[in-house]
Formats: sequence, C-alpha cells, structure tokens
Amino acid sequence: MSKVILAISAHPDDIEFACGGTMFKFAEKGYDIYLVVATNGENGFKISYKPRTERVRIRHLEQLKAAKILGVKNVFFLNYRDGYLTYNDQLRSKLVKIIKKVRPEIIFTFDPGNKSFENVNLHHRDHRAIAEVAFDAVFASRNRYMFKGDPHSVSSFYFFGPDKPNHFENIVEVYKQKN
Ligand SMILES: [Zn+2]
Repeated sequence: MSKVILAISAHPDDIEFACGGTMFKFAEKGYDIYLVVATNGENGFKISYKPRTERVRIRHLEQLKAAKILGVKNVFFLNYRDGYLTYNDQLRSKLVKIIKKVRPEIIFTFDPGNKSFENVNLHHRDHRAIAEVAFDAVFASRNRYMFKGDPHSVSSFYFFGPDKPNHFENIVEVYKQKN
C-alpha cells in the first residue's frame, strides 16, 4: 500500500467541513495527503466583496492555510469557475493525470450515489459533478489506453456526504485541529 490519500473536492473548504478531522488523523498515521480543489470558490462569499480576482486569491490563501494545519502535502488548484462545474472529459483527464502522479491508496470525495437533494448546500451542482467525475477518473486511471501514463489502481473510496453512511469516524481527539 502506498499510504497516499487524494481528497478530491469542488471548493476550498469542502474537505475541511467534510472530513478535516479524518484527514488530520491519517496525516498523523504517516499518510501523504494531497488535495484537489476543482473550483476557485470565488462565489461563496455571503457579503458583497471585492473584485473576482481578489476573491479567488482569498479563497486560495485560506485553503493553503487550512491544508497546512491538516498536514496536507500539496494542493492542486484546477481553477474552474465556482458554481459552474460540469461533468466533462477535460476535468476527468486532469484528475486521471493527478491520480497517476500521486498514486493514492485511498480517494476521498463526495458520494456520487447520494441523489437525495435534501440539502441545497450538500447537493450543490459542483459537488455532484466532482463526485461523478472523480469516480470515473478512478476507473480510467486503471486503464492503460484511455489516458496517458502508467495505470494506477486505487484501493478504496471514502465518500463523504452519503445518505446511507456505513462508517463514522470519531474525531473527538482532533476536533480542535478541524476547527
Ligand atoms: Zn463545496
């Protein structure tokens, strides 16, 4: 096992909200953790705030700061527009390239099977899109013909935001780091 985790998210802060405590625990166990942040999160401000470039800069800086606290090794910013993420092969090929590069044992991402639409935040369009593309990128990474690079097989998925959870991680001891 490679002891590498790749957490694939739509926005800066998704990972911290969804599984920040778990990430911290894995980092302490010696895992190398990498993060993919698909969009810039520039439209997530609640107050009227500054030009777009400045909002992107703030979200990137916040993400890097949070990643450092959680012990993340590197953040891959894909720079898509916040709120407009779609399922497409350009995004899939970018994820395959990163998977083949860091060669994770475990992938963390949103649950692509949860289509309950019970919560406008959880079922955000960008979350649904990244979940499905990440899932399909794992399949494509195992294949030697679909995309360039040596194939890589991911051993397991940890989905966050499921409607039928089958695992609960106790993060009491690391709650301070998550917050
Ligand atoms: Zn989000």
